Amino acid sequence: MIQTLGTEFVHFYLLEEDGEVTLIDAGLSGYRDQLEPALASAGRSIEDVKAVVLTHADPDHVGFAGVLQASHGIRVYVHRSDSDRTREGKTKKTEGSPLGMLSMLSYAHGRRALRHMIANGAAKQSKVAEVIPFDDSDQLDVPGRLRAIHTPGHTDGHCVLYAPSQNALFVGDALNNVHIFTGKPGPQVAPAAANTSTDQAFESLARIEDLDASTVYFGHGHPSTAGPRAVVAAARAQR
Ligand SMILES: [Zn+2]
Repeated sequence: MIQTLGTEFVHFYLLEEDGEVTLIDAGLSGYRDQLEPALASAGRSIEDVKAVVLTHADPDHVGFAGVLQASHGIRVYVHRSDSDRTREGKTKKTEGSPLGMLSMLSYAHGRRALRHMIANGAAKQSKVAEVIPFDDSDQLDVPGRLRAIHTPGHTDGHCVLYAPSQNALFVGDALNNVHIFTGKPGPQVAPAAANTSTDQAFESLARIEDLDASTVYFGHGHPSTAGPRAVVAAARAQR
């Protein structure tokens, strides 16, 4: 079973299998209080949370992972190339001007999103004391047996996470289902100002389109049942 958590601006996911839970990303740090009610509605408790698996090291995905590890010793996994950033809480270098993210302020949606993110802790990069690094194609020993597929571009270590038993694909920010600045809905690659390499992000889409998943879950925007191939095609058409 999968639950979509977070808000209209940022999503993270709870995957429950055989009574155990994996979180896919940990939202913004201000979302910590969402966890217990979500667990309760699945008939589970914090003791059942066995792992947090991060799609990448950005603060709106690392969120409260470090806090959860400190309080409950929960293992946190991230791709090797994003592991230093996750541990050290370092921001990434994006392509183009570092002020590029400020173009968010030109749009009403972007202004609301930015205000929400700052109010929920995104200005401060979250840190996780101890991370377990994984590599491309690894199948993780966590509830849901997630398989990591390296999809660099948004960050160097970005991965999509595939849960075959749930027919689910968690794409993090390899693809967004809403424009994070303008609010325009639909599958798309994140704006250049948010990526380490937009060219690489488009190349990485080839690693997603052949996956067999009935639902695609995004870091931003509503889940889609159109299938990975259609989602990727729609994003390419937006270029
Ligand atoms: Zn994000």
